[in-house]
Amino acid sequence: MEVDTEKLALTGMLPEEISATLNLAPYQGKQIFRWLHAKKIFDFERMSDLPKAVRATLQEQCVAAQLELVEMQESPRTGTRKALLRLPDEETVESVLIRDRDRVTLCLSSQVGCPLKCDFCATGLAGYKRNLTPAEIVEQALYLLQSEPLDGRTPNIVFMGMGEPFRNYDAVIKSIHLLMAPEGLGIGARKITVSTAGDAKGIERFADEDWQVRLSVSMHAANNELRSKLVPLNRKYPIERLREAIDHYVGRTGRQITFEWTLLQDVNDSLQDAEELAAFMGGLKATVNLIPWNPVHGLPYSPPSRARCEAFRDALIKRGITATLRQEKGQDIDAACGQLRRIHGEHSSKTP
Ligand code: SAH
Repeated sequence: MEVDTEKLALTGMLPEEISATLNLAPYQGKQIFRWLHAKKIFDFERMSDLPKAVRATLQEQCVAAQLELVEMQESPRTGTRKALLRLPDEETVESVLIRDRDRVTLCLSSQVGCPLKCDFCATGLAGYKRNLTPAEIVEQALYLLQSEPLDGRTPNIVFMGMGEPFRNYDAVIKSIHLLMAPEGLGIGARKITVSTAGDAKGIERFADEDWQVRLSVSMHAANNELRSKLVPLNRKYPIERLREAIDHYVGRTGRQITFEWTLLQDVNDSLQDAEELAAFMGGLKATVNLIPWNPVHGLPYSPPSRARCEAFRDALIKRGITATLRQEKGQDIDAACGQLRRIHGEHSSKTP
């Protein structure tokens, strides 16, 4: 795909930025934004309510669709759909659409690869390439929704694809503003969740954002020895420091947070692990999402049995913690973090 990188990435701009940058009337910025984000039309010629001259300006100075679909897989079992998208520099990212009864959730990537290299995650294996731009983040949502009739439903957004959102802070924040804009997808802040591996500085910064966007922290272990092995970022921000950042966040925003815990057999699935987590959460109003590990070829882990996962959940519940055991939804299409990109890379000469 030939994309002129000198041109303005239109999908990364808010209505008022479009108007100001292209010297258009405010309502025209809104019209253009609506075509891209609400109608998901990227061809300027089809933007029929724009004067010819404006369309010509767009053609000359802007690009709309920067991403190109490489592959779309759909799970026949759960309806989960996963897209592998090619970026202008030939890198690829994955995005996932999850259907759960009448809910639609979009799982977006924030980076190409990931610098954090959590021990059980497929994304880190391929290394870290670069941050995504706001346009590249938002276009993932637009692509996934292009073929999904929403019938009045608003999708949920989770930043749980490839990458660490707080290592690409400004672009992620901008992409959230784009997703929330009423002229476009108009997604409510409470339907958006940013998930971090525990970047304490990022959490503290996020506490200052004036909105109701949700925060989720990937814990996976509640003692420093194990957590540093599973989530190497823990060496920089050990659990005491992480707890401090969380307390700051909760104190400042009054919002509840969620903890993610990927269950790994005989690694972090014992009753003692549950107890440590409960102790770590002491005094916090927070819920826990438990996810059995989604197998990644070549990594030395396994998901625990259903019974063991349930026992872990019940141990938390007994201690007064709200915990839910997530049904794994994408295993048959390798929808865990970084998996499709990795498999594709193994079969293609383009991606290393
Ligand atoms: N970097 C961010 C967001 C991306 S990962 C973070 O760490 O939160 C989203 C979640 O999926 C994290 O909780 C991550 O630890 C988890 N995860 C990664 N690989 C997984 C796998 N193979 N099976 C289950 N969960 C996985």
